Amino acid sequence: MDENFPRPVLDSDSRPFWEGLQRHELWIQYCSLCHQHIFYPRSICPYCFSDDLVWKQSHGRGTIYSYTVVHTAFGPFAEETPYVVALVALDEGVRMMTRIVGVPDDIEIGRKVVVTFADLAEDLTLPYFRLDVG
Ligand SMILES: [Zn+2]
Repeated sequence: MDENFPRPVLDSDSRPFWEGLQRHELWIQYCSLCHQHIFYPRSICPYCFSDDLVWKQSHGRGTIYSYTVVHTAFGPFAEETPYVVALVALDEGVRMMTRIVGVPDDIEIGRKVVVTFADLAEDLTLPYFRLDVG
């Protein structure tokens, strides 16, 4: 992966998310007051405005909510086409923009997926998903 790859900004809200990915764990926030899972990381619950947020490890399972197959791309992803970009609804109830690895012929909305971890650089791991065929 080239060194110009865009890097996430680790701030106090998102650091546990990115550090979890480096351990190949998916962590998302959870509001202790209204009991909703939250993604992306933030300091205030978007549902009840509480700041009583904790981190919980996700089971890493969900379903494809929507997707598109990218045939033309620019920048660091240009040589990886075609690839699938999807909005995955985790079983915990949050939606996450991600990649579905491979270009599965039988991809469709509603298919079960499971997280997989893409180590793009020593300091950068992203959560991708693959079809759950198990
Ligand atoms: Zn809340």
